[in-house]
Amino acid sequence: MDYQNDTEGRLKTTGAASLAELHATKEYILPDERMKHPVAVIECIEAIPCNPCETACPVHAITVGSEITNLPVIDIEKCTGCGLCVAACPGLAIYLKQKNYTTDLSFIAFPFEYVPLPEAGQTVNMVNRYGQVVCEGTVIKVVTIKRFNRTAIIHASYPVKQYEHVVNMQRLARN
Ligand code: SF4
Ligand code: SF4
Repeated sequence: MDYQNDTEGRLKTTGAASLAELHATKEYILPDERMKHPVAVIECIEAIPCNPCETACPVHAITVGSEITNLPVIDIEKCTGCGLCVAACPGLAIYLKQKNYTTDLSFIAFPFEYVPLPEAGQTVNMVNRYGQVVCEGTVIKVVTIKRFNRTAIIHASYPVKQYEHVVNMQRLARN
């Protein structure tokens, strides 16, 4: 049976989703410290006709369903953290996250469409949903997935107390 969202009247239609709006959306699932590896976090709360996240997932962890404007729903227990959905999402609305990457640090993998790209080991400024710098982070690696090679995926660590707030990094200055 198809998953059916009950989204009418409670959808975001403009601008970046705030944390309050995300928390009011039952499809928003933030993995906690029980997850032993990074999993996908989907911040897609607009009822747009879109489902590449669903079709990209090799383990069918994401469900949009037959009504293509449904919000995507993830089963984090199925998610392997492969990152294909992060690269496939045209809205740049999916990250990988792990709260307790180390004792003090969380992990994020996010799409990044700007140049120059950072390098592994580089300290960068991590930003929230409004592009505001909230802390420093360290780049772990930069990957491109051949099937979706338009977008680099940056893997980085950052202080655990900013776990939910960080979604990307500040653009680097061109030399
Ligand atoms: S990270 Fe991979 S396994 Fe997890 S939801 Fe995305 S595509 Fe599926
Ligand atoms: S691919 Fe991205 S924008 Fe499209 S439904 Fe999935 S999460 Fe939303």
